[in-house]
Amino acid sequence: MYDTIVIGAGPAGMTAALYAARSNLKVGLLEQGAPGGQMNNTADIENYPGFELISGPDLSMKMFEPLEKLGVEHIYGIVEEVEDKGQTKLVKTADEVYETKSLIVATGAKHRLLGVAGEADYSSRGVSYCAVCDGAFFRDQDLLVVGGGDSAVEEALFLTRFAKSVTIVHRRDQLRAQKVLQDRAFANNKINFIWDSVVKEIKGDGSKVTSVDVENVNTGEVSNHAFGGVFIYIGLDPVSQMVSGLDITDQDGWIPTDDQMATKRTGIFAIGDVRQKNLRQITTAVGDGATAGISVYNYLAE
Ligand code: FAD
Ligand code: NAP
Repeated sequence: MYDTIVIGAGPAGMTAALYAARSNLKVGLLEQGAPGGQMNNTADIENYPGFELISGPDLSMKMFEPLEKLGVEHIYGIVEEVEDKGQTKLVKTADEVYETKSLIVATGAKHRLLGVAGEADYSSRGVSYCAVCDGAFFRDQDLLVVGGGDSAVEEALFLTRFAKSVTIVHRRDQLRAQKVLQDRAFANNKINFIWDSVVKEIKGDGSKVTSVDVENVNTGEVSNHAFGGVFIYIGLDPVSQMVSGLDITDQDGWIPTDDQMATKRTGIFAIGDVRQKNLRQITTAVGDGATAGISVYNYLAE
């Protein structure tokens, strides 16, 4: 029986585990992959206080390493379902059922799919959702980045380290990304823009991407452009299907909480990107995690 189980070892989950363990609780940190979550797919982090610049994988390890010393049990597994038995919660993976007095859901968010012809066919053969993972395979090529938010612009900048050129296609004529990223993109002579346009189809020669059909949303005109790779950054969907049976999500799958990170079910907390909130960042994820670690302690003390 754990005092608390944290599902997800991203920055939110690792911070919750840190605070709960420092409150002397028996903590299980259940993760399906490498600790770090989305940080593992981020090359340069420039807005985490205390570090002018740190790579995502380095920050992940710095957050993870102290947990073992504090006695946090790192459990590998994909949580498939959670059952709320009142005082006890059952956390189920394919092979095990873990019992815990409280639960912290820190399962984050994952990239959204574009849903156009060719996307699935050429996934990993020119279509990518991770510049850090795949960028180096596209040396000296012309690349397309889809989206206008922080991820699209930041990753387009990263791709200029390898690519001959990077074109950002955005459905409006203004970027959503932070001003500092916009300024850098506009100043980078390897980056071009296609405004007011959406991807219609990703085309290839059967083994790799060769071109993309782009439609202007104002005129309806479709044009074909040669690209060797397409990086898609059009936002995030919550990862919350494992708690769908608990009726704690909103209609889109995000989890509403109060300011103590409590969901509407007693003893079940939610933190980080999976939570219904405005700003999804590493700093806000660790803030949520700290609050939840203490909330769990208070809940168990009561
Ligand atoms: P996540 O990081 O998504 O971690 C969730 C964890 O839960 C994952 O490890 C996942 O494997 C695990 N998990 C999910 N489901 C299960 C399951 N069923 N069973 C077991 N484990 C499960 N933010 C910044 O502040 N600065 C940046 O520079 C920055 N750059 C970014 C660049 C990109 C390309 C992206 C996509 C995001 C970036 N962000 C940045 C946002 C930041 O990474 C997220 O806000 C943050 O990682 C959210 O943390 P989290 O712990 O809530 O979730
Ligand atoms: P986002 O902020 O939701 O932006 C998604 C972008 O994709 C928007 O520009 C949106 O257009 C566009 N889009 C959405 N659906 C589309 C579709 N079907 N077709 C074409 N375009 C579409 O998502 P994100 O950029 O992935 O960022 C996610 C979160 O992580 C944010 O909270 C962000 O701040 C954070 N993050 C932070 C950093 C950083 O701090 N350096 C870096 C990366 C990410 P519209 O603008 O028209 O809506």
